[in-house]
Amino acid sequence: MTTMAPQRPRPTSVAVRATRFGAAVASPRPSAPAALVPLYEVPSVASDLYDEIADCPACDLARTRTQTVPGSGPLPCDLMFIGEGPGQREDELGLPFVGRSGQFLDELLASIGRSRRDVYVTNVVKCRPPGNRDPEPSEMAACRGFLDRQIEMAQPKVVATLGRFSMARWFPGERISAIHGQPRTLDGVTVIPMYHPAAALRNGSLRAVMMQDFARINELLKAAS
Ligand code: SF4
Repeated sequence: MTTMAPQRPRPTSVAVRATRFGAAVASPRPSAPAALVPLYEVPSVASDLYDEIADCPACDLARTRTQTVPGSGPLPCDLMFIGEGPGQREDELGLPFVGRSGQFLDELLASIGRSRRDVYVTNVVKCRPPGNRDPEPSEMAACRGFLDRQIEMAQPKVVATLGRFSMARWFPGERISAIHGQPRTLDGVTVIPMYHPAAALRNGSLRAVMMQDFARINELLKAAS
């Protein structure tokens, strides 16, 4: 158990966010893309959960975070993406996937006719690991209950895991290079493992692989309806 880090107010709405950054009116922070503004709205069903996450001291990441990054998007939601952990930009804004990885995620979503407004996005851990290191097993275990509750609220038809840490929840011991893009139905939910968008930024050949894997999502949603 560790001492809780000082917390900034969580981003509950456009207006709150504007207040947080000292603006006099409900307008986005100048450096934040305008398209992200709707993502600051917290689904009412998740309000208490987001409050709990904002106050959580349960692992060492609480000491170094700027703020928690609970998730974004509507709840319930038929399509849910689960990544690894917040990066620097996410830690600054309190939103998941807002850096370069987020831009690529937006591209991938657009390729299947979707946007961030109609998918739920979160991470295995809700606080940034320092230096963008991998989350530790103890940190993922400490944060698991929050993810469990988000999945329960989302009631997703399809879960896409982004990267090996979220993949391990459903596919322990398997290698992402062997099973990416191959869905399985587990506990009544279709789960499709995918590379993390950051992997495609590091290795350009994975961009096409991710596009192909994403192209399966709509058929999976249809089959699950
Ligand atoms: S990563 Fe999760 S368990 Fe750890 S302090 Fe943040 S919210 Fe709590």
